[in-house]
Order: sequence, then C-alpha cells, then structure tokens
Amino acid sequence: MSISQLARSIAESPTLRLNEEARLLREKGLPVTHLGGGEPKNKTPIAAILSSAVKLVNGDTKYVPTDGVPSLKKAIIRYTEENYECMVQPENVIVSSGAKQSVYNVLFSILNPQDEVIVLAPYWVSYPEMIKMVYGVPVVVTPEDGRYLPRMADIEQAVSSATRALIVNSPNNPSGLMYPEDLVAEIVRFCERKGIYLIMDDIYHKLVFDGKKAPSAYKYVSKDIESSKLIVINGISKLYGMTGFRIGWTIANRKLTEVLNNVQAQTTSCASPISQAAAEGALTGLQSVVEGLRLMIENNRNVMMDELHSFTGVKVAKPDGTFYCFPDFRAYSGNSVELSNFLLKKALVVTVPGREFGMEGHLRLTYAGSVKDITEGVTRMKWALDPNAPNEIYIGDRKLVRDWL
Ligand code: PMP
Repeated sequence: MSISQLARSIAESPTLRLNEEARLLREKGLPVTHLGGGEPKNKTPIAAILSSAVKLVNGDTKYVPTDGVPSLKKAIIRYTEENYECMVQPENVIVSSGAKQSVYNVLFSILNPQDEVIVLAPYWVSYPEMIKMVYGVPVVVTPEDGRYLPRMADIEQAVSSATRALIVNSPNNPSGLMYPEDLVAEIVRFCERKGIYLIMDDIYHKLVFDGKKAPSAYKYVSKDIESSKLIVINGISKLYGMTGFRIGWTIANRKLTEVLNNVQAQTTSCASPISQAAAEGALTGLQSVVEGLRLMIENNRNVMMDELHSFTGVKVAKPDGTFYCFPDFRAYSGNSVELSNFLLKKALVVTVPGREFGMEGHLRLTYAGSVKDITEGVTRMKWALDPNAPNEIYIGDRKLVRDWL
C-alpha cells in the first residue's frame, strides 16, 4: 500500500485515541474514570435542538452557501459585536465544520511550503500537526520552567524571515491559563509590527472563572479590519457543549475570507445546514445555558484544585478558564506517556500525557465531567502514585492493594 510521506508523518490524535481506548475498556465492563476528554456532559440547549429539528421535519437539508447560512452569520456578527465590541460584515465571516476545520483552512490559506508558524507551549495538540499538513514548519516557544505563559522576549527571538503567523489559544488548552491583557496587547502589536498573522483560537473565551473576562485582541489592533492580519476563531463546541454538531467560524479580513471560501468550497462545500440551524438556535436562544455550564465547570475546577493540592509533590497552576488543568508530575515521572499508561493500567484513569502538548512531565486532566469523576479519578491516581495515600482502594467492586511503592 502506498501512503504519502506527509500523511505518514502526521501523528494520531492522542485525545481521540484515548477516548477510543477508554470506550473499549468500558465495553469490557471495566470501571474507567475519564479525565482525558475535551467536552462537557451537558445536554444540547433546547433552542438548538428545536431549530435543527425544524430543518429535519421540513426536509430542508440541501446544500447552503459555502461561507454559511446568512441568518447564522448574522447571529455570529451579533456575537462578535457583543463579546468583542467589534463590528464585522458578513464578508468577514465564514462558518466551517468545527473550529478544527477553521484552523486548518486558515493555515492552508496563509502558508507556503516551509513557512513558519510560532506555536506557544503548552499548545493544543493539533496545531503542529496541522501546520505540517500544509507543508509549514511549527516553531515552538516554551516558557521558563515552572511557568505556562510565554515571555515576549522568547516570542521575539523565535521570529525569522520565514515566520507567517503566531497562534494563541487563551484560555489555554491544556493549562487552563488565560493570557493577561498586557500580554495580549503586546502580542497584537508585535504581530502588526512584524506584518504576520495572529490567529486567536478563542474557542474557550467565554469559559472563564472568578469573574474574569478574556481580553479581546481587537481592542489593540491599530488597523481597520480589512488591513488587519488578526484572525479570530470560535465555535459552539465548548461554548454550548455542542461538540458533535461540528460548527466553528472564522472572522478575518475580506481578502482572506474569500480565499477561505474557495478552499472550503473545493473540500466540504458547506457545513451541514442542520448543524448550522442548531448553532443559530444556540446563539439566539437563552444564554443562561452558557452561564449554567460555566458555573458548573468553575465548581468542578475548585474541586479539582482541592484534590490536587493534597497530592504529594504535584504542582499545579490554578486555571482561569477551560475545563483542563495541567499539573506537573515530575515528582513521580519525567516520562508523561509512561505515567499516563501506568495510571490507565493500574488505576483505570484516563489522563493525557503532557508530551503531546509540548511539555514533558505534566498530565492534562479534564474537569468537564461530574464531581464524582474528579474525586474518584484523583483518588485513584493518588492511590497509584502517592506514598502518603492509603494503599487499599475499591475500584468498582474490586478491592485493590498497592504493592509497588
Ligand atoms: N481549538 C482548541 C484549543 C480546542 O481545544 C478544540 C477542541 N478540543 C478545538 C479548537 C476544536 O473545536 P471544534 O470542536 O469546534 O472543532
């Protein structure tokens, strides 16, 4: 079988692989606790269900414009105005099949082979692979040891004549930390000065805790939208917990949006109109669902922090948002892949190795599930690793005794 060199070089998505592994173990009847996922367990908001149901009942399921159904784009424009204080036109908006596709289409549209994109560790696993998929080169900037946000000086050092873009994801998957206002301002000004694209992956920007608000990059842009190279990506997956509908969108200048439109027209034609109707329903329906989800996850974050603070040797930065945290487990192992496999095998807990996010020695833990998932998951991890934890535990109805410490 002949497979392209490029396709062969692309890594499997570790988070999707872990989901599959957990599903298979559960199918065997094993009581797996999943702290590896990337979605909340909420039900889809009723407004979204009803508006997509109307499409289905009417059999209104044909192709729609490549850049998105006009009424959804209108809702996105309103969303942008309300949340970013930025007025955009329909020509600045394109709807895609998930923010993942939005990011990919942007990279495809702005990079020539060997062009470089600066990626800030810890980063979302898909960025480096997507950059490679369009023959670009990811250039990773890693923060100082013990920190999770980049230093401006390190970003400046990473720029070369081949740099075309910088990607920021804040609040951040996997650390949960939000880039402070002054860092966002500096990054925006820096990208403008260098004439490079700034891709803001804002998929978690409403999932912020402690009364904080994610800074809007638009506030610091000195150019008008048509001459700006700021690109903002968003979607309904995390905002409403509607991951399976696969709707995301990009806001960019008209010229780039036209190109994104051509790329999408030749690959997917359009995002599903049934999902677009659901997205419109969610965006125009009661927004208390977003606040309800946010509050539930903030409470889960607090439970997760309490659990981790009593875990001997584990250090963790308190997340400002998202449903992830990224504790440092170097007190137990410098090899996060081995550690994650050990925890799955011994304690039936799914975690994601930090190596996948460009920072070894850490594990990404999700608190999007129930409080019970969090307490059960971390208790099992303590049992498996922490010599100060009791050496007996019930996992499901089996009593296990730790005999390896
Ligand atoms: N960006 C980041 C940082 C994410 O964590 C995710 C989902 N895990 C996405 C984009 C993709 O979201 P979507 O489901 O809209 O494709």
